[in-house]
Amino acid sequence: MQTEEAREVRTTCPYCGVGCGVLAEVAADGEIAVRGDPDHPANFGRLCSKGSALAETLDLDDRLFYPEIHGRRAGWNEALDLVASKFSQAIAEHGPDSVAFYVSGQLLTEDYYIANKLMKGFVGSANIDTNSRLCMASSVAGHRRAFGSDTVPGTYEDLELADLIVLVGSNLAWCHPVLYQRIVAAREKRPAMKIVVIDPRRTMTADFADLHLAIAPDGDTALFTGLLAFLADNGRLDRDYISRHTNGFDGALLAAQTLDLDSVSDRTGISEETLARFYSLFANTQRVVTVYSQGVNQSTSGTDKVNAIINCHLATGRIGRPGMGPFSVTGQPNAMGGREVGGLANMLAAHMEIENPQHRDRVQRFWKSPAIAERPGLKAVDMFRAVADGRIKALWIMATNPADSMPDADAVEAALRACPFVVVSDIAANTDTIRHAHVKLPATGWGEKDGTVTNSERRISRQRAFLPPPGEARPDWWAMAEVAKRMGFAEAFSYDAPSEIFAEHAAFSAFENGGERDFDIGVYAAVDGDGYEALAPFQWPAPAGGTTPLWPAGHLPLKGGDQAVAQLSPTSNVAETRKGSELLISPLEGEMAGRPEGGGFRFFADGNFFTPDRKARFVAVTPPEQRAINNNFPLTLNTGRVRDHWHTMTRTGKSQRLSQHLAEPFAEIHPSDARQYGISDADILRVSTAHGEVLLRALVMPRQRPGSIFVPMHWTDQFASKARVDALVTSITDPVSGQPASKNVPARMERF
Ligand code: SF4
Repeated sequence: MQTEEAREVRTTCPYCGVGCGVLAEVAADGEIAVRGDPDHPANFGRLCSKGSALAETLDLDDRLFYPEIHGRRAGWNEALDLVASKFSQAIAEHGPDSVAFYVSGQLLTEDYYIANKLMKGFVGSANIDTNSRLCMASSVAGHRRAFGSDTVPGTYEDLELADLIVLVGSNLAWCHPVLYQRIVAAREKRPAMKIVVIDPRRTMTADFADLHLAIAPDGDTALFTGLLAFLADNGRLDRDYISRHTNGFDGALLAAQTLDLDSVSDRTGISEETLARFYSLFANTQRVVTVYSQGVNQSTSGTDKVNAIINCHLATGRIGRPGMGPFSVTGQPNAMGGREVGGLANMLAAHMEIENPQHRDRVQRFWKSPAIAERPGLKAVDMFRAVADGRIKALWIMATNPADSMPDADAVEAALRACPFVVVSDIAANTDTIRHAHVKLPATGWGEKDGTVTNSERRISRQRAFLPPPGEARPDWWAMAEVAKRMGFAEAFSYDAPSEIFAEHAAFSAFENGGERDFDIGVYAAVDGDGYEALAPFQWPAPAGGTTPLWPAGHLPLKGGDQAVAQLSPTSNVAETRKGSELLISPLEGEMAGRPEGGGFRFFADGNFFTPDRKARFVAVTPPEQRAINNNFPLTLNTGRVRDHWHTMTRTGKSQRLSQHLAEPFAEIHPSDARQYGISDADILRVSTAHGEVLLRALVMPRQRPGSIFVPMHWTDQFASKARVDALVTSITDPVSGQPASKNVPARMERF
């Protein structure tokens, strides 16, 4: 490929929720190389193995180039006409709840915004849910119960400022590698920093910890309720904070005190001595950040686990202050952007609540829409059940592969097969989902599409195009807007560019905000096309005047007269300087002094939660009964990620380098289980649950917890025969969040 001249494009990695900045260098001969963006505040030039290999995944093999209808090539007009007429027909004949969108944390915020606007404001149903439901819905629900809103209080800098980092159900070294690298670098500078890892497996992250608690599956609620009782028993509560900024403490403590240390030990599988060590460390360290991820969220008690963690931070007043707080890290690149625009079936845009009539009215007035969803829609698992039993007549799936990634995946595939009308928008021509599509729509992929994403610390960054769309591929927002026009909503969906959508989304975040609106989150000012093109990463809430930092980089007065490279946030009293490759955090002076330490905006520094009385809520939680393993299924199946692959491997599977790390799917088991079942390393195993079976190579490792089998989630039939592990996973969900329990499934194994 020839290009006019070499160029460098500033964009963002499309994989995990760290949201690293990437510089894509396009040479004159079309060769593409990527490197970390040294100026991006998430990664400061670092990339992990997946991000570094992005250029190896850009080939056009297996791309969907043209729209197809029933397997034949079609034009966009014909395909869009058909989609619009089928959706309109279903709505006319069966009502708005007979149609659904299943979308993805891979979508850009602009795509997500349009999907949500069309479904909730114009179709009049809330049947839009996302694969982020499988990732962090329990964190959303836990935040809303405790804070009155889905708000992540902290920043990445808090991880560098903490004296104790507790990682719960998070293999950060593999799943959020650049955040892990930042912690490693911070600990090199401050060796007294302590790390505790709570995970059934001794993961690579646990190797780095001062203390690893190999907790029993779903033992987290017991562990953190036990911690709350310990804090109370040992006089480590912040009584002043509790009385000024919270409600419900007595009930939460009463529930926590139903378990003594012996019972906590029994439920967690952790010795009383080790529990006491962890509890003392937490109790006696002021700067504590508790990071949690899918090991907490993917559970029938995921929301309670989240609140058990938050309870301990509220009880000690360790929230919203430098180096302190509960911190949910998201799996996907834009799970947070999706949350901001209401991409979950139980939320409205701009973090407003679907159950709140004032919020619904505000959303409808802003959109000038003919309808507004009156109640929460179907969450992911229920949505596919509704497809299976015929309630959903038309389904549009975007940028995700539920036939492999949903729990009970065989049942999901059967539902797709039975659905009267399925539309799939994707870049890949061959997935287990798209083969069930009546209409296939070719989407633009990373490097071709333009928009924004939000990372785990609420930082909004641009993804920018540096490649032309192949064939007739078009952005998802465009395809949805075209369908909306054909459904009669032309005036509300006449966008020419993603910048116009972002401007509307930004204006919406400020609409009646700070006035009659009862909370003021999500504020960032609208930008025009040029401003959008140049938009630098920023963390919301941004200053009322716009998204530009108040003090531009290079113009910040530092103590000692040096000039800063970058201020960490508009509200920060520190900035970064560099000496060679070394990153330093330096305090500002003058008018900047007295601002929050460590950079980045923190919510709840002074309490001020988003509840009606502005107080946080303790939630009284009690540990769940252990999932019943039985004679048929005496083991526990735990699923998760590996370091070098992403989701169902449609992109990372293209890189030989990434595939070398772990070349085939495997089942990791403990040596004691291997002995009991007569299994040797590298044997082929049959792993079964009530839903199905897979065949996998045995990896006998003392890292694994006895009684558990760990299987990675990535491999599909496209890459390895009979290795599709989500076909084995139960579709039982957390009753509050609707998130499936993908980490504690009764299972058995035998040598094949
Ligand atoms: Fe991409 Fe996450 Fe790796 Fe950063 S840490 S390069 S966002 S996969």
